[in-house]
Amino acid sequence: MARRRVSQLITSLSSPSRFPIARCLSAFSSPDLPREFTPKSWQSNPQCKSSINKAFSFQQHSFSSKTKRNPSYSFLNSDDISYFKSVLEEKCVVQDEERLSVANTDWLRKYIGTSQLLLLPKNTDEVSKILSYCNSRQLAVVPQGGNTGLVGGSVPVYDEVVISLANMDKIISLDKVNGILTCEAGCVLENLNSFLENEGFIMPLDLGAKGSCQIGGNVSTNAGGLRFVRYGSLHGNVLGLEVVLANGTVLDMLGTLRKDNTGYDLKHLFIGSEGSLGIVTKVSILTPAKLPSVNVALLACNDYLSCQKLLVAAKRGLGEILSAFEFMDSHAINLALTHLEGVTNPLPQSASKFYVLIETTGSDEANDKAKLEAFLLRTLEEGVILDGAIAQDISQASIFWRIREGIAEASIKEGACYKYDLSLPVEKLYGIVEEMRLRLDKMAKVIGYGHLGDGNLHLNIMTPEYTDNILTKIEPFVYEWTSAQRGSISAEHGLGFMKADKIHYSKSSEAVKLMGSFKKMLDPKLILNPYKVLPQSILN
Ligand SMILES: Cc1cc2nc3c(=O)[nH]c(=O)nc-3n(C[C@H](O)[C@H](O)[C@H](O)COP(=O)(O)OP(=O)(O)OC[C@H]3O[C@@H](n4cnc5c(N)ncnc54)[C@H](O)[C@@H]3O)c2cc1C
Repeated sequence: MARRRVSQLITSLSSPSRFPIARCLSAFSSPDLPREFTPKSWQSNPQCKSSINKAFSFQQHSFSSKTKRNPSYSFLNSDDISYFKSVLEEKCVVQDEERLSVANTDWLRKYIGTSQLLLLPKNTDEVSKILSYCNSRQLAVVPQGGNTGLVGGSVPVYDEVVISLANMDKIISLDKVNGILTCEAGCVLENLNSFLENEGFIMPLDLGAKGSCQIGGNVSTNAGGLRFVRYGSLHGNVLGLEVVLANGTVLDMLGTLRKDNTGYDLKHLFIGSEGSLGIVTKVSILTPAKLPSVNVALLACNDYLSCQKLLVAAKRGLGEILSAFEFMDSHAINLALTHLEGVTNPLPQSASKFYVLIETTGSDEANDKAKLEAFLLRTLEEGVILDGAIAQDISQASIFWRIREGIAEASIKEGACYKYDLSLPVEKLYGIVEEMRLRLDKMAKVIGYGHLGDGNLHLNIMTPEYTDNILTKIEPFVYEWTSAQRGSISAEHGLGFMKADKIHYSKSSEAVKLMGSFKKMLDPKLILNPYKVLPQSILN
């Protein structure tokens, strides 16, 4: 039966009447397809508002037990507001309660600050003036991009001023010979990708939050995502940055060269620094060519060992055309099918424990297709996969990706979501999901999914509401377990507020001390994104 399904799909793929698969990807940006749950939509949803209130009471408790407002920071006064109005357009100095409530609340509705001011600079000079002033007054600030971060890094902890880059969304240039894009930090990832696709390129990164997250936020979190397995880290793809330091100094590192070994490569310090060392205002980035042939397949595996075998086989058998290798357990896929509208199970007859989404991208349609078909038949014959489907048209490919990308959104519909983003040796990666299930038993739903091709597990634990009781069952166990495998407690989301004091699970005390020295050198008054990334204890 399983074999017939794959074979049938393969046969129908070679039918001339099929919908060209390359067009499937452009469907992802269709306004009809909700690709993510944006802050706007959850803020206006009454059901979500009640969850916000629940989260808020938890969070207030959590803030006060974890940290205290640094008494050296000033409180905002009317002179400050007048100054900001003299530097920015009046409408860019926001004190409106509703807009502040959005800026104060993170995507998971877990962290809620109490900022009274949101600033929306339009250019680097305005960012520089804001920071120079805040530094002189010792007013703490939070740089904010699309506010899709998952570790409480993008929202204030107390009353920090929010500096949003949303108004800095201009594309500056595209070098079409070398594929180098230069743009402002507030450009939304999806908009950049759409612009590039028209020019024959794509962004080297892609993530479920693409409709809201900004390239400045991506750089500041060193975002990984769905294309990492093919194009690698932003440390490799970002060629240059413009950054405004805490004292307002504009640091021009906006190079566009592939090779430049003159002195220390300072931009790397800011990639992944989560707004704690400076505000990224411009980015130049290498963009790969858009290739014409894209195929997407959803495959079912019986156990986790088979997923690993499939990964090894895909790296060997698909080689250079492999562009995504995402896995999800049956609990994750079922959650997506339950909560996402308009999504049906592409493999309704298989009740497998694991699913893998494979995407190939290449330049030779016939060759790529033949390669994928041969690979699927081989892995089916060897028993590595039990079942599978290749997307044949625009809606099938969209559904496959929607299921994988919608898991984060589906998770928060369950109520509270404790989210962990772990980097682990692939062979050990699923062990923590099984242990957590045993540990929590009926107290929570536990799902595992993520970027298996990069050894990156997303472990989501859902309960009706946030409670300290559940938290103490999860932490520090999850961090100790990860550390014992020499894994990382943050593969791609960063540390933010959530894990600032957990950094020692993944970094040596000498390394953390050196990070503290950099922080104090670049931001001696500690105004940039306080209480995040590093433990407070090393900054005193
Ligand atoms: C549905 C969903 C799917 C996701 N999938 C992935 C994924 O696959 N891979 C992944 O890595 N992440 C993923 N994320 C997490 C998140 O989208 C990324 O971390 C993203 O890079 C954050 O970008 P942002 O613009 O929203 O930044 P924000 O959330 O606004 O900010 C994140 C951090 O960066 C800082 N920051 C933002 N902009 C700037 C700037 N210009 N200068 C200095 N500091 C700044 C903030 O202070 C904060 O510390 C996902 C999130 C969601 C909601």
